[in-house]
Amino acid sequence: MMEILGQVGNASSIHAFGRAARRIVEDARERVAALVGVSSPQVVFTSGATEANNTVLALTDRPRVLVSAIEHDSVLAAAPDAEIVPVTPEGLVDLAALEAMLDADNRPSLVAVMLANNEIGTLQPVAEVAAIAKRHGALVHCDAVQATGKIPVDFVALDIDFMSLSAHKLGGPQGNGALIVREGVPVPTLIRGGGQEKRRRAGTENVAGIAGFGAAAEAAAAGLGAYNRVAVLRDALESRIRAAFPETPIFGGCAPRIANTSCIAMPGMSAETQLMGFDLAGIAVSSGSACSSGKVAASHVLAALGVGRDLAKSAVRVSLGWDADEGQIERFVETWITLRQKAERRTAVA
Ligand code: PLP
Repeated sequence: MMEILGQVGNASSIHAFGRAARRIVEDARERVAALVGVSSPQVVFTSGATEANNTVLALTDRPRVLVSAIEHDSVLAAAPDAEIVPVTPEGLVDLAALEAMLDADNRPSLVAVMLANNEIGTLQPVAEVAAIAKRHGALVHCDAVQATGKIPVDFVALDIDFMSLSAHKLGGPQGNGALIVREGVPVPTLIRGGGQEKRRRAGTENVAGIAGFGAAAEAAAAGLGAYNRVAVLRDALESRIRAAFPETPIFGGCAPRIANTSCIAMPGMSAETQLMGFDLAGIAVSSGSACSSGKVAASHVLAALGVGRDLAKSAVRVSLGWDADEGQIERFVETWITLRQKAERRTAVA
């Protein structure tokens, strides 16, 4: 990326500099396509997954839109009239409810279910969702932001129509993403103007960012194995906390999850207070989803799981890096236990 930032050339120009930039963009497109098992014309580069989600959800011509209750805000806000498909207390989309909702009304529909949830990490049964949707003639959109780069993701095997990706969730630059589209399915156009991205997304390409996305996609595909080790570390973190405080709620903990995510409640201490405590110990964690932190409302994801408001407000999302190590786990667990003991003392005094 640094090298490319120093180069001139608009990927739409036909002179040599432009053609060199075009090669960089198309090379990256192949790498991103390979990561999710599609051919490169199916990849439309965007400014991120927020844009990709908005493109599909806000512009669909389907009269009915159904979204899972635990979708990212960029899906929920783009489809304010969508019908909400409930999730189980473990954080998995309720397939029977989806089927019943589709049975009840046979207007053409679009169904949006994410692959891995960003707050609790649960892996959604997207292939089953797609099978149900197809039986009802519905299109399927999948926000695969959190799963891609952590588990193998195969667009064709999932049998879906649209997928959103975000470069920065797999080690690439912020402000880059892609919409993946099934061959033959028309792509709604959100950003209009020039003819870039085969008229599917106007605007001069962010060549350096796209190159970074391509490099990250290639590295992520090669590095999937690292997450087996991360899962062992995450499980160790959770079991050490539970060894000290057996009743600790870990949301989605009994469902299949991506390896790096753990959403842990600390009854008696707000997530904000915990965040400060962890920060002082040099540990960066988030309350709810980082994108919406700062908002006072409890997480809509935990509410959908049926978690009470007070408990939800004490939940912290821990994300382990691909290179996490035993020392980090040790430090986290020690800090968590210290904070938990403080919460216990405070409760006893009150
Ligand atoms: N979808 C999910 C599940 C996310 O976690 C995020 C960001 O955290 C997004 C979409 C938005 O992606 P971007 O930051 O690329 O707009």
